[in-house]
Amino acid sequence: MAILKVAKLGHPILRQVAAPIPPDQITGPDIQRLIADMFETMEEYGGVGLAAPQVHQSVRLLITEDIPDPEQEGEFLARRSVAINPEITFLTDEEVAFYEGCLSIPDFRGQVPRIRRIRVRGLDEKGRAFDREIEGFPAVVCQHEIDHLNGVIFLDRMRGLSTLAYQSEFDRFRAASAAGEPS
Ligand SMILES: [Zn+2]
Repeated sequence: MAILKVAKLGHPILRQVAAPIPPDQITGPDIQRLIADMFETMEEYGGVGLAAPQVHQSVRLLITEDIPDPEQEGEFLARRSVAINPEITFLTDEEVAFYEGCLSIPDFRGQVPRIRRIRVRGLDEKGRAFDREIEGFPAVVCQHEIDHLNGVIFLDRMRGLSTLAYQSEFDRFRAASAAGEPS
């Protein structure tokens, strides 16, 4: 396994629409190595999610980390997962807004409105179809990562820039009152 270099804002790959992965390639060595390396990279940089274009691979693959339940010790809102060729459906008009960060925009946080509950269909790391409904913070992480597959970054989704903050100032003034993790 290897820690991969993360593409930073301004790298054109972050603005490309990523290509689907042929299902028969998912269990092959290239995609399996990419998945393993992406998990190692996400752990190294402390992200809660990572999309393949962020590691210079313009394919429709994302991973998400375990997301602990802040209200129940030892419980999880979502477990770590892989989504390949994911398709998203919005299940409500209701929005939530978290302060998001991004490993490709490492020093900033900003508040982003997202849909609170979504359905995601795709293939897992073994090429098996999944279909799940998710809500709250895990749904936010998933929307953030799927955006990366379409060349969209969280700055594009902000309603304005008034909540944009350096990470250091966010930690000083906002962290106590706002959730959000780099992804
Ligand atoms: Zn990101």
